[in-house]
Parts: sequence; structure tokens; C-alpha cells
Amino acid sequence: MSQIRSKDTGPEWTVRRMVHAMGFRYRLHVSSLPGKPDIVLTRHRKIIFVNGCFWHAHGCLSSRKVPATHPRFWTEKFARNVERDRKVLGQLWSDGWHVLVVWECETKDPGRLSAILSAFLKPSRGPVNYALDDQHALYEQAAESRVEYGFENES
Ligand SMILES: [Zn+2]
Repeated sequence: MSQIRSKDTGPEWTVRRMVHAMGFRYRLHVSSLPGKPDIVLTRHRKIIFVNGCFWHAHGCLSSRKVPATHPRFWTEKFARNVERDRKVLGQLWSDGWHVLVVWECETKDPGRLSAILSAFLKPSRGPVNYALDDQHALYEQAAESRVEYGFENES
């Protein structure tokens, strides 16, 4: 789900360190999966994307501005990125993966990030808890998937 980005960005490192400290092991940048997910917990069927707010058009305060030059180019580019993200999420959900999207801006508050990650990673009965589902159009899809796919028990 990422492009034009080095593998070890600050936000991604922050998330990886925290997931690791919670005792989980994972694979990185798995190119055999749609969107080449940043963090993959194969055994738990869970995936975490760490999305840059700018490229993925989060719409938060720090990313809301379209660059002043070539605004149309950027608007279209952002729209394509968002569309690609939606498609990737849809594929992963229908393949039975639990997916969490962590936004760059969310990695700046360690307390909040920790709450988001532990809610997502703890073994869950029933639906996955997407803690941030009101923040982005992507999460509208997340809300739908909860209904469509009855996630089974994990242990
Ligand atoms: Zn953001």
C-alpha cells in the first residue's frame, strides 16, 4: 500500500518496535500479498499497514493540503492511491486477513498507538475492533467487512 517510501521510515519503525515489544513476531513487506503489507503476522492472520498521511491522503490536519503546484495532478494522484488502498483492503479481507491501517499521525502519540495495536492484536472473539473507523473512507469499508465476514475465533 505504499509507494515512494523507504523501507524503514520513522512511523513504521515505531509500530514495529511496539508490536515486537508486545511479544509478536512478524514478516515485513510481504510481496506475495496484495499491497505488499508492511507487517504480517502470518499465524494470527493479521496485517498492519503503516500509511503515510500525505501519500495515502489521510485528510488529517497534517496532510490536508494539496501542494500548491499542479494541484490537479496531486488531486488525481491521491484519488488513485486511495482507490488502490481500498482495492487492496478488499482483497485481503476476502482472503480472511484481519487488517489494521495505522496512520503516520497516529504514531506520534505512543499511548494511543499502544492502545490501538493491543486492541487489534489481542486474540479476539467475533469482529476485529477497528478503533479508528471514523477517520477515513477506508474505514467505511472496514465497517462493512465486519458484517460480511464473521471472523472466527483466534487462539
Ligand atoms: Zn494522518
